[in-house]
Amino acid sequence: MEKRVATHCPYCALQCGTTLTDSAGSVSVEPSNFPVNRGGLCRKGWTAPEVLHDQQRLREPLVRNAAGRLVPTDWDRALDLVAGQLHRISAEHGPDAVGVFGGGGLTNEKAYLLGKFARVALGTSRIDYNGRFCMAAAATAGNAAFGVDRGLPFPVTDLAEAEVVLLAGANPAETMPPLMQHLQHADLVVIDPRRSATAGQAALHLRPLPGTDLVLALGLLHVVVAEGWCDTDYVSRRTTGFERMWPLVGTWWPERVEQVTGVPAASQRAAVRMLAEARRRYVLTGRGAEQHEDGADVVSGFINLALALGLPGTPGNGYGCLTGQGNGQGGREHGQKADQLPGYRSITDPRARAEVAEVWGISPEELPGPGIPATRLLESAAQPDGLRALLVFGSNPVLSAPDAASTRDSLSRLDLLVTADFLPSETVRTADVVLPTTQWAEEEGTMTSLEGRVIRRRKATAPPSGARSDLEVLNGLATRLGQPAERFPDHAPTVFAELARASAGGTADYSGIDYDRLDAGEALHWPCPAGAEGATRHPGTPRLFLDAFAHPDGRARFVPVDRTESAPAPREGFPLVATTGRVMEQYQTGVQTRRVSELAEAAPESFVRLHPETAQRAGVVEGQRTRVRSERGTAVVTARVDSSIRPDTVFLPIHYGEQGCANLLTSAVVDPRSGIPEFKVASVTLSAAEEV
Ligand code: SF4
Repeated sequence: MEKRVATHCPYCALQCGTTLTDSAGSVSVEPSNFPVNRGGLCRKGWTAPEVLHDQQRLREPLVRNAAGRLVPTDWDRALDLVAGQLHRISAEHGPDAVGVFGGGGLTNEKAYLLGKFARVALGTSRIDYNGRFCMAAAATAGNAAFGVDRGLPFPVTDLAEAEVVLLAGANPAETMPPLMQHLQHADLVVIDPRRSATAGQAALHLRPLPGTDLVLALGLLHVVVAEGWCDTDYVSRRTTGFERMWPLVGTWWPERVEQVTGVPAASQRAAVRMLAEARRRYVLTGRGAEQHEDGADVVSGFINLALALGLPGTPGNGYGCLTGQGNGQGGREHGQKADQLPGYRSITDPRARAEVAEVWGISPEELPGPGIPATRLLESAAQPDGLRALLVFGSNPVLSAPDAASTRDSLSRLDLLVTADFLPSETVRTADVVLPTTQWAEEEGTMTSLEGRVIRRRKATAPPSGARSDLEVLNGLATRLGQPAERFPDHAPTVFAELARASAGGTADYSGIDYDRLDAGEALHWPCPAGAEGATRHPGTPRLFLDAFAHPDGRARFVPVDRTESAPAPREGFPLVATTGRVMEQYQTGVQTRRVSELAEAAPESFVRLHPETAQRAGVVEGQRTRVRSERGTAVVTARVDSSIRPDTVFLPIHYGEQGCANLLTSAVVDPRSGIPEFKVASVTLSAAEEV
């Protein structure tokens, strides 16, 4: 018998609506008329069901034996072993010797229960997640400017009315193609060192040297003010801090910015004129602007630009960040971030601690303090007083963390590495214990899309008999660690109801949302607080900031940022800048998409894209295996030669493993404000790896 279920794509934060049909265990997908995708899907979405029946699906727990091989075991033995080891390590070395690493693809319920598990069942502060690698800079800058961090503080569909959209380091034509239908009437200004698919559709393409994004943002703001485009009425009514910001920007006149970034002064002025003369305009950032050692400052620079033009909180205008991972938004709201509790509240806020502790049935004193960001967490596995055990849920840090060789070395020093996943990733292959989990179409839950809308993920098909949901895994471990079973429910609606209560009063307030409302099709964007008994239910908040920003005085903040060194100097012997990014057919570290036949055929291997002049200098030709070397390591990939990239820059995709892993080249330097690593600038040199 056929079963049809309305749900959403498992991949990116656009969370396109789909209908899944299960016919005798075989699942097919079709797009639904959900507002963000309106009947469209990208290739990843169309082929997602293939992952459900992958031959290499993890179907039983695995434990590494004395010979170093992962061998099958049963669930009780696996959970007993993990709980026993965690108990021992915590008793011998203290609770912070045990860490938890989550993921931005986990449902809201999983992210919530994982944070609670770490702090209550393990008593550790050492929890963070892979969103630190992608969302942290925009989150930090958004919180500083607006007092709240929601990727898009307006519905995606608002973009359809835009006249001009500036995309800074964002490439939605490849990363979330259905979004482009909302931009088809807008003139695009794209900032990207590559002529990406999105840049190819732009009215104006600015191509800065990677690592100079902040200077470009400062320069654009300089033009806004110097040429009289600043919305002074908006600035005086709705913001503070302009007077502290302007002296820093004043010295970045366009010709000086051109010297640093390579973007012609005339193009800078043209970009600002396009934005300033339009009536409906948006500034959007993506990973290209954010994944830098000054990533939060870069985003603050673009937010300052948007504020000077009077965009945030003005109908038909705005600033937003195109969140990447499927639950990149919800994943950072429910407590798997090192410094946050559910409701997106600070773990150092005494009131938040008291309220969440009450929901969790513990005292605030039992609640650990802030942990450390993901990169430092992983590094600490190699340090004498650092981690001894790590539990990884739905993430692949062996490939996604910077400086991949060092990460693998750190993780190999752990006494215990446990992974909960549904496919054999590079991290799974490194683990001591592997716990096989269910995946998107096999379970109930909620996700929160890039526009802050809470959506239902529904079960459409049965999981393999040996797989368990992450909620069941956490329940099984928590009870073995002495927790009452009812404190760690394995029923998604029950977890959501508790999550909603724990979020009450936070910026991401879900307390007025429940499964019944979501299943009735209500479009609920947070904050959606519970009203008083008998009051009309809150309708959710699709548009933030229309009346006030979330700071106590209701005003947005200009955050003063500046760039002290003029441009990243190439290192001796490493004359080129390597930057990393995505291709349309692959998602994240490719664990799911690399095994889908159509996607693997279209984008089968890692590569380095380089300009013909660069190729000639390096003695490399199209299709040749090429060694890309940095001070951290060497990747060996296939050369793709064309003029879509600057001659001083090369590009590698992030989706591949082994010798093609782009993070073999990147460094573990992180942004001091947000903890995001520098993924977009690595000094490298090229050489041929084989004869043609
Ligand atoms: Fe899935 Fe994103 Fe593609 Fe939509 S754009 S089908 S959510 S991967």
